[in-house]
This record gives sequence, structure tokens and C-alpha cells, in this order.
Amino acid sequence: MSILKEQLLDELKLSLALRLDGVYFKPEIIADLFERIPNNNIIKTKITPELVERLNYLVPISFAFPLGTRAATFGSYDSLYSIEKDGDEYYVSRRGELLKQLTFVDDSPAFYGKTTSDGTPMREVATDSAYGNKHKSIIFCYSEECSAKDNGETCLFCSYNRKRVKEFELESPPFRSVKQIGETAAAAYSEGYSHLTITGGFIPERREVDYYLDVAESLQQHLGVKDFNGTACIGAPLDFSVIDRYKEAGFRTVAFNTEVWGKEWFDVICPAKVSACGGYDNWIRAIEHAVRVFGEGKVRSNFVVGLQPKERLLEGIEYLASIGVVTLPSPWYPSYGSPLESHRTPTLEWHWDIQLKTYNILRKYRRTFDEIFDGAPTRLYTHELFEIEDETLPCFEGK
Ligand code: SF4
Repeated sequence: MSILKEQLLDELKLSLALRLDGVYFKPEIIADLFERIPNNNIIKTKITPELVERLNYLVPISFAFPLGTRAATFGSYDSLYSIEKDGDEYYVSRRGELLKQLTFVDDSPAFYGKTTSDGTPMREVATDSAYGNKHKSIIFCYSEECSAKDNGETCLFCSYNRKRVKEFELESPPFRSVKQIGETAAAAYSEGYSHLTITGGFIPERREVDYYLDVAESLQQHLGVKDFNGTACIGAPLDFSVIDRYKEAGFRTVAFNTEVWGKEWFDVICPAKVSACGGYDNWIRAIEHAVRVFGEGKVRSNFVVGLQPKERLLEGIEYLASIGVVTLPSPWYPSYGSPLESHRTPTLEWHWDIQLKTYNILRKYRRTFDEIFDGAPTRLYTHELFEIEDETLPCFEGK
């Protein structure tokens, strides 16, 4: 392996560490960042320096390491990692030892400054999920509530139904109309975005299932194309013909996030999906059906990794990959407001091993970077691993 690839893997691993442990921001540093980068996501989420400091909130600014690895992090009062400033330069340090220089970057897209025809700020309709990467993607989350909460069945890692939002006057954004989504997608695609994901919580009586079809129609209309490279991220339907209809409606890919492998784990970790989606066996059958309809490499399933033993998890990643599913490992960090808030995720080495093993499994079943990009909602470590191996990152230019 070349030195450059080793250095990139080193950056990527540190980026993963910051994602898992968060970073301690001294008050003067976070205040400095908020002042220096005015056009950032703070406007969207109403995050304040005080909130970042106190509540482990995602920091609204991504960072870049010297070779270009980019990532998001969150503020954590208890982290071993901290941001230090030396002159005008920022460094990440661990227990006081400076590890790497980093740059904070404002990757806010131009559409964040625009509004839809009904006056809604587009930054409240879609979220950039590319972190400044040239492969640009956005996420439309039509609602951050899930009807599962009515039965007390929120999935254990999920913060959609967090209760304490109002304590800090952070309101859940309202439900998004298909027109707002179409107009925002048109603005984003006109500045180079080329993939979108539609996602959100369950709506009573699973009304989101038909809503996705209306969204597809609006996207085709506003983008003027039949294939808008979109992913419908859904819960398994009881009637599988819906999956066929999504393909006909123009979605290029479809996603069912399995989260954990094995009925015994799914029943405990994902109670909302069990009761609304016909249970674990139906979930897996829906994925198998989707591969038949959409084709290999066109169906994605995320796993929230860190919630079950490695061997059981890898069994699932291997099985789904073997039938052509893009299986993606999202590292679990116990998010604020989720039922598992304040728990701990496994170690960095555990997570790094899963990232590498999943990457090798995806390669073994001939998945490509384009398939990863078309299926994933956001830039993940898997993207970086593919681009490091394929030498397609900007830092390889001219080497
Ligand atoms: S189904 Fe589970 S993971 Fe999905 S939004 Fe509802 S509670 Fe969250």
C-alpha cells in the first residue's frame, strides 16, 4: 500500500474517532467558529454555541483534514479529543497531544439561501449530505416524527421522537409538501447535486407509502427528467406491489434499513418496524423482492453498527450483500433524545474493523462506488474507502 493511502486511512480513522467520541470545544473556540462562519447550518437548526457545549449536539460545520478527508462531528464535554487553536490554525488533540491540523469549512450550498414559492426557506426542506465532497447529495426528511411514538415503540437508536426538544425551543420542522420538495430539488440539482434521498418517520396508517409516489411525480415535473436519481427510503410494505410502483414512478434506488441482523435483535431494537411493517421476516422478504424489481446494486440497507455482536452483524451484511444489496454500516453513537441516549458505543477499533470488513464484503460482491453513491443518503466511511482504493480522491490528482 502506498504511503498516501496509509495516510488517508489514518485520517479516515481519526475522523471516525471524532464521530464516535465527539470533540470538546472550548467555549471561546466554538464562539469563534460561529462568528467566523455565518452562513452555516446553525440558521437551519437553531443550534447555539451553548447547546453544542452542553448537549452533545452535532456541530453545524464540517471539518477537513490536510489530505481532504471531511467529516462532521459533535460537541462533547467528556471527549478525550479537543480542538486547540495555535495562531490561526486549528488542531485536533487527544489528551493534550496535537494529532492533526484541521480546517473548518462552510459547505453550505447556494440553495440554503433560497426560498420555495410559498416562502419556505429551502434550507428547512433539504439538507446537504455531501460535506463539501464533489459527489453531491441531499436528504429530504419530510417529517421528524414517527407514528411509532403513539404506541411507545420508538426504535432504540432513533431520536425522531425526542421529547426534550421544546425545552430548548427547538421545534421539529413541519411536514414537507411535495411541491416544496420538487422546487428545492430543482434548485439543488441546478448547482450540481445529483442524488437525493426521501426519508422520514412513519405516518399513521402508513400514509407515507403513497406520499412517496406523489413526491416522485413532483420531482419529475420540477427536474424535467424521468430518472432523478432518487432513493425512496421506506419501511417494508405489507403489499410488495408498492415496490414495483416506486420503480415505475422514477426512483432509481430503494432503501430498507435493517439496522440489526436477526429476528431476536430486530424485535428488541426496532419495535416500530416490527409492528408497522409486518415483522422481521416480512422486512427481509421485502428486500429480496426489491432486488428482483430494482436489480443488484439498486437496493440499499443500512445497519446501525455497534448494537449487537460483530459476528451476527457481519452475517447479515454478508447475506444481504450476497444477493446484491448495498449494505452500509452507520456507526452507532447514542444520539440525544433516543431511548439509548447516554449509553456507550463500542471502541474505535471495533468500529474500524466493521468498516473494513464491510468494505471487503461489498468488493467481494462487485459493488461499485457509483452504486454506493446512488444508494446512500449521506457520505459515509464506505465512500472514502472505495475512493482511497480506486485513487479517485482529489489528492491523487497528479500523483
Ligand atoms: S421506524 Fe424506527 S427508526 Fe424509523 S423513524 Fe420510526 S422509530 Fe425511528
